[in-house]
Amino acid sequence: MTDLSQNCSAGLAEPPWSLDAPSASSPPGPVYGPGASQDDVAPPDAPVQGPIPSRYRRMSAAELDDRIATARARLGKRLVILGHHYQRDGIVKFADFRGDSFKLSQQAAARGDAEYLVFCGVHFMAESADVLSAEHQVVILPNLAAGCSMADMANKEDVLACWSELGRVLGQARSDDPLVPVMPITYMNSAASLKAFCGREGGAVCTSSNARAVVEWGLARASRVLFFPDEHLGRNTALDLGARDDEIVVWDPAKPLGGLTTDALERARFILWRGWCSVHTRFTVEQVERARAEHPDVNVIVHPECRHEVVAAANFAGSTEQIVRVIREAPGGTKWAVGTEINLVRRLADEMPDKSIWCLDPVVCPCSTMYRVHPAYLCWVLESLVEGRVVNQVRVDPTTAHWARIALDRMLQIPG
Ligand code: SF4
Repeated sequence: MTDLSQNCSAGLAEPPWSLDAPSASSPPGPVYGPGASQDDVAPPDAPVQGPIPSRYRRMSAAELDDRIATARARLGKRLVILGHHYQRDGIVKFADFRGDSFKLSQQAAARGDAEYLVFCGVHFMAESADVLSAEHQVVILPNLAAGCSMADMANKEDVLACWSELGRVLGQARSDDPLVPVMPITYMNSAASLKAFCGREGGAVCTSSNARAVVEWGLARASRVLFFPDEHLGRNTALDLGARDDEIVVWDPAKPLGGLTTDALERARFILWRGWCSVHTRFTVEQVERARAEHPDVNVIVHPECRHEVVAAANFAGSTEQIVRVIREAPGGTKWAVGTEINLVRRLADEMPDKSIWCLDPVVCPCSTMYRVHPAYLCWVLESLVEGRVVNQVRVDPTTAHWARIALDRMLQIPG
């Protein structure tokens, strides 16, 4: 049982529909809600979830379970439910596939026979699934307000303004130079419009598993990379590639010229967008030191969205899938202090009782936006499908999807 006194927000005890629009005609401004992103500011144009029928909000957990199972059985092979590792157990238990964002999108694309892809994750993941899936497939996000605060830190207007400034300061490609001045690389955790921007401008997408290979690919073709939206994954990758501190600069979209000088931009090899994941930036070096003081034989494993000093202090750093694999393959009896989202850490601990697994952060603070997907929404979208109604479809327009796919395909062609 969770001790609520150790939660980062009392709001975590409330069901997520308390954050939904009270009615279709009076939507509130978008908010991330309780959890790790509660202090981040949601952009005014972020999707808002309208009210779901009140009967779903009144159902007990057992009734929701029964009804989800019944609807799922009735939809049969027409339906695939994708469950991100950071989703709550009450959702993950219904997932046909579990994984991180890219693995799930690939699995969705491989199930061409399925008509409906219900993506229990966040908005950019549903967009990627729509980009990679076939024309006839419908992608559904159970709660439209499940965005990603990190992805929201880079919007298209700000990135285009940055690109234009970089072009002015750094110049354009020259026929006598094999390297272009700057290559855009976006993390998978970004809007489809930004993946499309990278596709159009010769850049690529990366994941936390292949960021090093994709950035190396970029630097073989450009004097520098513009990496967004996660400053920390960008810095961890740059330092892993041997970058000096003065080759790394951070572009702050709220400041003129990103808060940088022309000299600094000309010298830079890594221009990192000022964005972060509020889940992974909660982890600190002090937490790593405490884990080691209390358990000298502990292995500390963290996600590369953590700050560099935390990654440097850990024994291992890796993507969500890599964290899962390393702990699964570890011998029984080993101890793991894990720096990633609490739902995944708890599930790993439950599934591997022969190992000691706990979260580096003693405060329970899930991803605010993953938290928005509750079984009541899953039940609502599935029963709507059974009744022949599609609700909460996430659709990427064909031109954006075309260019986003080019950026994704470039990533897939990069070895590593
Ligand atoms: S864990 Fe971080 S990057 Fe992942 S969805 Fe939540 S806010 Fe976004």
